[in-house]
Amino acid sequence: MSHSILLLPGDGIGPEVVAQARRVLERVADLYNLTIELDEANLGGVAIDREGSAYPETTQAKARSAAALLLGAVGGPQWDGLPAAQRPERGLLAIRADLDLFANLRPAILFPQLADASSLKPELVAGLDILIVRELTGGIYFGEPRGIRTREDGEREGYNTYIYRESEIERIAQLAFELAAKRDGRVTSVDKANVLEVTQLWREVVTRVAENFAGVDLDHLYVDNAAMQLVREPKQFDVLVTGNIFGDILSDTAAMLTGSIGMLPSASLNALSAGLYEPVHGSAPDIAGQDRANPLATILSVAMLLRYSLNAGNAAAAVEAAVSTVLDQGCRTADIAAEGDAVIGTEAMGTAVLKALKGHEGNEL
Ligand code: NAD
Repeated sequence: MSHSILLLPGDGIGPEVVAQARRVLERVADLYNLTIELDEANLGGVAIDREGSAYPETTQAKARSAAALLLGAVGGPQWDGLPAAQRPERGLLAIRADLDLFANLRPAILFPQLADASSLKPELVAGLDILIVRELTGGIYFGEPRGIRTREDGEREGYNTYIYRESEIERIAQLAFELAAKRDGRVTSVDKANVLEVTQLWREVVTRVAENFAGVDLDHLYVDNAAMQLVREPKQFDVLVTGNIFGDILSDTAAMLTGSIGMLPSASLNALSAGLYEPVHGSAPDIAGQDRANPLATILSVAMLLRYSLNAGNAAAAVEAAVSTVLDQGCRTADIAAEGDAVIGTEAMGTAVLKALKGHEGNEL
């Protein structure tokens, strides 16, 4: 079976990091006998410049038929003057909506070799491996009615609607339990059920879904407590599942526990397991075109792509092991280097990962 994978290099450092991820993807596919077909399309600023829209029709057609998409990043100062509706970031929102990518998976993993990069004590975070599962297409960010209006007394007020349907909660909870079953078997659901009715329903539905997963433990935390626990004792968590707004905030908090934005992958999945995989970082215009970007977040996004859309867990683990090996070897791009470390560039880091990749029997090509 052949898997079609669409590359969306995007803007800034996007093309540089995707180029390295592509080399890794092609090599690991060879090593694990995966048949992949790679294609490329424009998204973001580059799509505006070449095709007149951030998510052009040619990209839409390719995206809808791909098994998985790998994105670099979009945006940059040259498009900042455009009206909000025409900016590169709109391309990202449009593709998420178009493909119905309702589940955002954000692992916060701290390779022990980089434990000193965290602002927390190394022993609190070394070996950290949390997966935050955030609902991405509902909740207060999309709820209607919304707006700013003038009251009868002349004062203005802003309002939004925090709303979730049972089916929306059910599908994200289902996914969180499935993922936890393949990990450490623990789900923590985060809500504010003491104050918000919408999250009372959230808690009720998550509890109901849990009944189908005998091997997975469920507990519930209020979001304020979850934020505290994340910085107090982050290793207590396995999978955290939560709605759009809480997930937005908690996933960035968890990212900072690791101290290095250049190391963090993400996935956004739909009900068909098609997914958009991308590093958490942006297009880093300050270092674009200088061979200084860390490609490891995008390479680790390839590992997620292999695991979640191609169901190739062994190949995914091989990519993750290769990243760990290069860190053991002392390979560091500038963003993860400690004082006195020798620094290598984007391409050299990609090459190091390629060399460290091992096949089924540990054979290198
Ligand atoms: P950013 O993540 O691009 O950069 C923040 C800082 O981290 C910069 O100093 C940058 O040099 C550094 N950095 C980021 N990725 C790195 C990497 N792989 N290796 C080494 N250093 C890295 O965030 P920003 O500066 O706030 O945004 C820049 C542009 O990216 C904006 O146009 C923004 O809208 C866009 N953006 C896009 C996405 C996305 O495509 N998903 C996400 C965030 C920001």
